[in-house]
Amino acid sequence: MKTFKELGLNPQILKSLQELGYLEATPIQEQAIPFVLKNSRDLIGLAQTGTGKTAAFGLPILNKLEKNKEVQAIILCPTRELCLQISKEIQGFAKYSEGVGVVSVYGGARIDLQIREIRAGANIVVGTPGRVLDLIRRKILKLQTIRFVVLDEADEMLDLGFKDDLNEILSDTPDTKQTLLFSATMSPTIYSIAKKYMNSPEEISVGKKNVGADQVAHQYYFVKPGQKYEALRRIVDSEPDIYGILFCRTRNETREIADRLKEDRYSTEALHGDVSQDMRTMIMERFRNRKVQLLVATDVAARGIDVNDLTHVINYNLPDANEIYLHRSGRTGRAQKTGISLSIITAREFRKIRELEQKVGKSFELKQVPSGQDICAKQLFKLVDKIKETKVDEDEIAQFLPVIEDGLKNLSRQELLTRFVSVEFNHFLNLYKNTRDLEIISADSRSFGDRPEKTRRESLLSDEDFIDVRLNLGKRDGFNIKTLFSMINSLPDLKGADIGKIKMSDSFTIFGIDKNKRNDIVSSFETISYDGEPILASIENGPMIDQSSRIFSGVAKRKPILKKGKKKISPFRGRK
Ligand code: ADP
Ligand code: MG
Repeated sequence: MKTFKELGLNPQILKSLQELGYLEATPIQEQAIPFVLKNSRDLIGLAQTGTGKTAAFGLPILNKLEKNKEVQAIILCPTRELCLQISKEIQGFAKYSEGVGVVSVYGGARIDLQIREIRAGANIVVGTPGRVLDLIRRKILKLQTIRFVVLDEADEMLDLGFKDDLNEILSDTPDTKQTLLFSATMSPTIYSIAKKYMNSPEEISVGKKNVGADQVAHQYYFVKPGQKYEALRRIVDSEPDIYGILFCRTRNETREIADRLKEDRYSTEALHGDVSQDMRTMIMERFRNRKVQLLVATDVAARGIDVNDLTHVINYNLPDANEIYLHRSGRTGRAQKTGISLSIITAREFRKIRELEQKVGKSFELKQVPSGQDICAKQLFKLVDKIKETKVDEDEIAQFLPVIEDGLKNLSRQELLTRFVSVEFNHFLNLYKNTRDLEIISADSRSFGDRPEKTRRESLLSDEDFIDVRLNLGKRDGFNIKTLFSMINSLPDLKGADIGKIKMSDSFTIFGIDKNKRNDIVSSFETISYDGEPILASIENGPMIDQSSRIFSGVAKRKPILKKGKKKISPFRGRK
């Protein structure tokens, strides 16, 4: 890695970088900075999130500024947070560069103040497209003197519907300008922007394209539909120091999950399109200060959030577009810290995991939802640590000690200890003491993804012509071999199929079926229900199931359907 001095930056900038603790250039900086310093050609810079792209364009532009009061550079980015973050960073770089004005402009804030700042002298304007256009139309911002245009996170700007604004803004800039586009991923949108707005751009790409940051571990939890929230709560409870963003698909879901978490005493806030700008600022402030541990957000609302040390990104749902998963997971594992991107999925989403493994270039680890005991143990350790680290104000507490001693004098040391710990700990004990574990596929990651086909386990019960299917129905549900056969024969795509060995336990059933039916199985079972509940069928290629394992002990009890003396009625029926 090179030092910034070797890249050719001026002494004023070097001084500020030294103060900011920037010792060496990151790979994208190492390539982009000398390029922009020496060339006036357009540039596309691609590098993962958190690799210092702001400095990669900010530093050379600053270095090339001329001494005057004109607007020489305009940096467009998708959100208010990014605007503030970029302008703050560039102001830091410009600390010793005399007379350089950096102004940020964005919607949802008073325009008159922004106008005043621009009039006071702005060489670099950082703005969201909407507000920039507004200022151009008011003839406050004049872009005829522009020498640099930066499109930061350009694809997100288009996603957010800024296309027309961008068109209008850029048509106002001189042809002689240099356009720099920076993005974490290469996408068709980026190509189309490049084609439209750039002149035979140079492309600098660092690291693997479209690949998530290396410090991110990808994990997933496999749960039954309807158990996502419970799984989420357990995961969060077993990570007392979690600090992360939970991604939901819609604003309704965001609101709902945040409300439930709040009811369950978690420090959380929701961020979505209906949250006012003032609220948003307040929430972000609380999140940055860690007063909020878990931010529940939609993808759009989370854009531009810059918090570098997230421990977790949680995907409550997998996004439709794999790119979005990369954006999400790129929010953790930043600034040289490791992070976890975890997804809570149902059988339906399993296929996506495979796709994402391809996309990310890493295998995803299947994890087991923590048991009540795991959680209690973790929380207890945390509590003991907290007690050890608590600072005691001897003077203040001294006056109360006699009363305390008197009140507790009949308790032994042992009793005292257990009671003090219980004050805080009872919440978790009560919550988890009688709960069963969720029914979750065994956490043996070897069974999925990261092993090639041939080492996949052979058929569990039957020979080569069969594959094993697992149903979430067992003896306890009143399920038996006869019901299984009539169920299979009621399904048009499976009717008459060869059935292999059958293994039935209290809570689940595994049976072999003609492997040519592989593609019809899951979808067929999705069309019927059993005792009013959906049936979950999955193809088994996991490890042999250990029946004594507690993993499988937690199926919710259903009414037994075979009542004594009554005619046996098949309880399943087609669902619409
Ligand atoms: P990106 O835009 O690629 O996602 P940022 O420009 O936001 O990344 O930088 C991520 C973080 O890394 C910021 O906090 C920034 O101050 C810091 N950073 C960037 N370059 C360096 C460097 N060369 N040395 C130390 N820290 C850096
Ligand atoms: Mg950036």
